[in-house]
Amino acid sequence: MSPPVDPVTPNPDQPKQADAVIVGGGIVGVSTAYFLAKRGLHVVLCEKGRIGGEQSSRNWGYCRQQGRDPGELPLIIESLRIWRGIEQEIDDEVGFRQAGVAYLAGTEEDLAGYEQWVEYAKQYQLDTRLLSPSEVEGIAPGGGGKWKGALYTESDGRAEPGKAAPALARAVQRLGGVILTDCAVRGFETEAGRLSSVITEKGVIKTQALVVAGGAWSRLFLRRHGIDLPQQTVVSSVLRTKPHEAGIETSISGPNFAIRRRLDGGYTVAHGGASNYDLTPDSFRLMKAFWPAYRMEKKSIRFRIGQRFFEALGQTADWRMDMETPFEKKRIWDPAPSKSILDEAVRNLKAAFPAFDGAEVAQSWAGAIDVTPDAVPAISDVEGRPGLFVATGFSGHGFGIGPGAGRLMADLVAGGQPCVDPAPFRFSRFHDGTKIRPFAAT
Ligand SMILES: Cc1cc2nc3c(=O)[nH]c(=O)nc-3n(C[C@H](O)[C@H](O)[C@H](O)COP(=O)(O)OP(=O)(O)OC[C@H]3O[C@@H](n4cnc5c(N)ncnc54)[C@H](O)[C@@H]3O)c2cc1C
Repeated sequence: MSPPVDPVTPNPDQPKQADAVIVGGGIVGVSTAYFLAKRGLHVVLCEKGRIGGEQSSRNWGYCRQQGRDPGELPLIIESLRIWRGIEQEIDDEVGFRQAGVAYLAGTEEDLAGYEQWVEYAKQYQLDTRLLSPSEVEGIAPGGGGKWKGALYTESDGRAEPGKAAPALARAVQRLGGVILTDCAVRGFETEAGRLSSVITEKGVIKTQALVVAGGAWSRLFLRRHGIDLPQQTVVSSVLRTKPHEAGIETSISGPNFAIRRRLDGGYTVAHGGASNYDLTPDSFRLMKAFWPAYRMEKKSIRFRIGQRFFEALGQTADWRMDMETPFEKKRIWDPAPSKSILDEAVRNLKAAFPAFDGAEVAQSWAGAIDVTPDAVPAISDVEGRPGLFVATGFSGHGFGIGPGAGRLMADLVAGGQPCVDPAPFRFSRFHDGTKIRPFAAT
């Protein structure tokens, strides 16, 4: 079941020409379109389903700097700067609140791990710090003094996943950009080696620039054109409560539970320490690239083999441009949530904070998260493919960094000085012999 998402009225017609075309109407695609349109470029964004219909409306809503790969820090700092001013800038609601993020420490060992990350934060003048047990009680009352402390960043925030991508898409339209929904991009064509047009299910758009921000579909899309993006998916389950008063505004992540206050007065609740991984043919093709990540995450992964294996087996990347593609066959990827994982999350939450005892569940859902081998996205051009760009692989933390990623992508497409050093996000790192490992300090 899909979580609530604000509506966007699509433009009625597909233009024949654009300065740039964007594949995907998640937070990354709409942010890219927004920053390109702000620069005066004529953009067309094509979304196969609805704006924000996949990961961008299904996530927890954390906009956090803490706990990230240090290579991402300048971009997330820029992204938080954008979040803080975006509602005023676009005169629409995204639900951003600077209410802080805290990771609770149940043991001294947890606390020692967090201490390491505080050192990274200092290098970027972040306000991340360790909280004492009594300070934890201040931001998360009712924990009964059982916490050893917490990693806390007051300048971190939260936003409303069902609102953010739609609000930015409407802002794109107000700037003259075109938003198309139920419009899958099937592929692209080149002339003299340079990207020259994009083919959608509704026809051809002449353009010199294509940004692939297709979330969990980017690998399949690129494979059709002989480009190998190492990307896999894990399924993460979430629920929301009905309006409930637990007295906690900070986004809290504890041992095997996580919460975020919602604008509707309820809480988004998840496990945080468990997700499902469906084996597919790519599990074997990409085993070597993902081995370090697997070893790091193996405690939290619950393997499954079933229908998804055969579905992926059938998704061969050899479609013709005049035939229906896998993108049209599945307009919205809406995986079933895991009841057992969510039951565990609720049990752990209630044991940690008895104030949640009376909370009633309003809805549950899941999302397919796209991950790269180092859990860092690719925001980059594609070597040897002039005119082609990728902004994908956000590895479970792309909502918070989405506006910043869109700004960086727009800088790269339009040319000029990028807002941050794009080197950590270069696509070529997957193929040029760079040692790829996920960062693990928290
Ligand atoms: C359960 C869960 C919890 C999470 N929690 C957080 C969190 O708290 N904080 C955080 O920062 N991040 C979080 N994330 C991750 C975050 O949601 C994602 O990293 C981010 O939304 C990715 O945005 P995106 O635009 O790249 O992808 P998506 O939102 O998935 O959008 C991609 C879009 O591309 C479209 N598309 C694909 N192929 C085509 C095609 N060929 N033609 C047209 N359209 C196409 C898809 O339909 C989709 O709408 C979470 C994710 C999940 C699922």
